[in-house]
This record gives sequence, C-alpha cells and structure tokens, in this order.
Amino acid sequence: MSPPELFDTHAHLHFPEFTDDLGEVLSRARAAGVTRMVTIGTDVATSKAAIELAGREVDVWASVGIHPHDAGEADDTAFAEIARLAREPRVVAVGEIGLDFFRNLSPRDDQERVFRRLLALGRELGKPVLIHCREAHDDVLRILAEARAGEIGGIMHCFSGDATIARRCPDLGLAISLAGPVTYPNARALPDVARLVPADRLVIETDCPFLPPQGHRGQRNEPAYLALTAARVAELRGEKLEFLAARLSENARRLFKIP
Ligand SMILES: [Zn+2]
Ligand SMILES: [Zn+2]
Repeated sequence: MSPPELFDTHAHLHFPEFTDDLGEVLSRARAAGVTRMVTIGTDVATSKAAIELAGREVDVWASVGIHPHDAGEADDTAFAEIARLAREPRVVAVGEIGLDFFRNLSPRDDQERVFRRLLALGRELGKPVLIHCREAHDDVLRILAEARAGEIGGIMHCFSGDATIARRCPDLGLAISLAGPVTYPNARALPDVARLVPADRLVIETDCPFLPPQGHRGQRNEPAYLALTAARVAELRGEKLEFLAARLSENARRLFKIP
C-alpha cells in the first residue's frame, strides 16, 4: 500500500544543511508520500536559491520574502529584487514575512515596515502570503486585518498561538499550518488548535531543517518526517489519516494554485 499523499507547505530545502545530500532527502520525501513541497526564501539570496531549486525539481515550488530577522537589512534594492523574483512562474507565494518579537533580531519598526510592504506585494501579484509570527500575534493580526489579508489569502506558518488566536485566523482569510511541535508531549495549546481549525483551513509543514517532530528531536528535520506530524494531527482530530492527508493537500494546492 502506498502512503497517503502529503504536501509540505514550508521547507527550507535550499539551506546549507541540505547541500550534501539533497537528492537523498528528496528521495526519502517522495517515498514517504510527500508529493509536493514549497521551499521558502528568507532574504534576497535565499529567495534566489529557492527559485533555482524549484526550477530543477518538478515537485518543489518556491516562495520569496524577507524574514523579520532580516528586516533590518532590507533597503529599496532588496524590495526591488524581491518584487522581481516574486513574478517568476515557479514562485507561488510571498513569504516568509511577519513579526518576531521573541528573538527581536531586527528592530520592531523595521520588521513592521518590511511586513507591510511585502503584504502589498502579495496583493499586487495575487499571490498568498506566508506569515511568520512569534510572540507578536496581536500586532500581526491587526496588520493583516488592516491589509485586508482575506482578499490575499495566506498561511500562519508553524502556528504557535493559542485557541483564541486560532479562531480569529479564518476570518482574516488565513489558513493555519501545524509543524513538528504539535507532536511534542509538551505541545501546550497545539492539540486544541489541531482539533478546532475548520477542515478547509488547515495545512501542515516541516519548516525543515528546523523543528523535527517527536522521535527526531535534536536531529536535522526533513520532509519525510511530515508523515509523523500528519499522523498526530489525524489522531487529535479523530480522522482517518488517508482522509485528512487528502484534505490537507487539497487545501494547500488551492491556496498555492498548484494543479
Ligand atoms: Zn518562520
Ligand atoms: Zn521557515
């Protein structure tokens, strides 16, 4: 029996952690049923690398953006480059973008400036936005509401909020993406979130090489491990894995407009 089809909506396959064995990583992903992946840029250089990889692999698409950690460096040249790259045919989204008040690696004003500017780019191009948010949910949701994100569509990637925040996301036009942390014994609000998100608003991701699921903690994460996250979400929702996997893949394909 072949495994159910999975869609990894957020990976960083072009990062240096995969340079030595990307071919094997992709083979294991395909063997585990991961039939589609989006590899995510975090600045101009990694966005270019993401597009290059997506150009080589038929089951990998790219997203381009400037991560809040890199917002302090973003000047007009960087915005112009991202705007140009975002028009490439293999680019299915703008991101990751957002606010990170947990690590605060860039000044908050810069984070917000970049976030707003690239939300506008997503709107202009009709491409969904991929949101990174840590310890900043009120500000992120306020900015998304002001930007009328519901008309753009997007994903709250690696969702780390609570049930109250999760309930507000569908109204803002956002899907919620669960990553490895939903499998941890100390998953806090995430099991509740997994149960309450409407079936048409849920997707999953690895965020590899980061955040490996339970059983692989301390190791490099990779798309093949998405099967563990899918199994845990199915268990929490009391749904059959095959049924849930098909639904989540369909949600991702619709969002990214991938046939
Ligand atoms: Zn992120
Ligand atoms: Zn990421």
